[in-house]
Amino acid sequence: MTENIKILIIDDDESMRDACVQTYAKNSYVVDVASDGVTGLQKIEDIKPDLVLVDLKMPGISGMAVLEEIKRIDPEIVTVVITGYATIDSAIESIKKGAYDFLTKPFTPGELRLITKRALEKRRLTIESNRLRKEKEKMRERFISMVSHQLRTPLVAVQQYFEVILGGMAGEVTDEQREMLERSKIRIDQLIYLIKDWLNLSKIDANMIVKKLASINITSIFTNIFNLMQTIAKEKNITLKMDIPEDLPEISGDKGTLEQAFLNLVDNGIRYGKDGGKLIVSAKEKNGYIEVSISDNGIGIPEDKLPFIFEQFYQVEPKSDSTGLGLSIVKRIMDAHSATIKVTSKPERGSTFTVLLTKSEEEK
Ligand code: ADP
Repeated sequence: MTENIKILIIDDDESMRDACVQTYAKNSYVVDVASDGVTGLQKIEDIKPDLVLVDLKMPGISGMAVLEEIKRIDPEIVTVVITGYATIDSAIESIKKGAYDFLTKPFTPGELRLITKRALEKRRLTIESNRLRKEKEKMRERFISMVSHQLRTPLVAVQQYFEVILGGMAGEVTDEQREMLERSKIRIDQLIYLIKDWLNLSKIDANMIVKKLASINITSIFTNIFNLMQTIAKEKNITLKMDIPEDLPEISGDKGTLEQAFLNLVDNGIRYGKDGGKLIVSAKEKNGYIEVSISDNGIGIPEDKLPFIFEQFYQVEPKSDSTGLGLSIVKRIMDAHSATIKVTSKPERGSTFTVLLTKSEEEK
């Protein structure tokens, strides 16, 4: 289908413009021309072409500048550069600026037709994949909102009723009833916990994380986490310790998600720790990266189970207060930061999770 396909040729050379128009005459493309960059850009805004051929060497604004502007106006417009001085450098430069391909003058009508066909196919595929990506994103959002509203909200309501009944506010409860109600409440609590973790996991969007990268101080992240976890650690008699040099360079990351990942690691270190044990967070600069380790001297993980612990829903020993999602959340967050995470562990001796993060640009 070539109907309604709009092509714009921006070239200061009249004979070149005419030659292109003639080549396209057999197809039913709607073809327009412009003799300079400014007129060309104006026409792009007006007619919204599918394909633009741009001469690199023009008086006034250059072909490269026109390419940049086209990308800003509509990144789905496909561009082909016409160059009379096809040095590899200018061709590479134009492709870096977003051009799909380049044509070297003089070119034959056959070459123009072929490159046009391929460029239009590329545009069709780009539009299709953008549409599918948007659709997938919408479905994901709809699913998240369905899970949180249709599943979580009623469960929270049921949980509150249990609290009212168990608190004796709805009349007396026999011991037998209390036991059953308490067991049911634990099940509901677990389900709510699972939904919360699952929602966290589905909300981690790598693209969003990359957009929010900022310079972050590791000490301040762990100070917040230790404050949050102090009570739980005390209940298990676990000492929390930080061994981070004061002059440690900042890292590049998204504060919210990194805090969540490190919180999960500290939370595990406490939950799988032994009464009277300790958890140590240390950090140092290593080969231009920042290495952060979270070590506990808890129950440890058997060697044959280690390859699976970052998988969704995996638990070495199923426990009522765990979902098997914590480490997959950590892994996803680290992947989005292009950070690596490793674990070493020995049963009955403890585990160490080590993360290698990128230094902030300001520190380089
Ligand atoms: P959860 O803790 O909710 O089960 P995670 O994904 O955080 O889920 O962890 C997966 C499994 O890895 C846990 O069930 C546990 O068996 C093991 N694990 C994680 N961290 C530790 C740790 N610090 N010490 C011992 N085992 C751990």
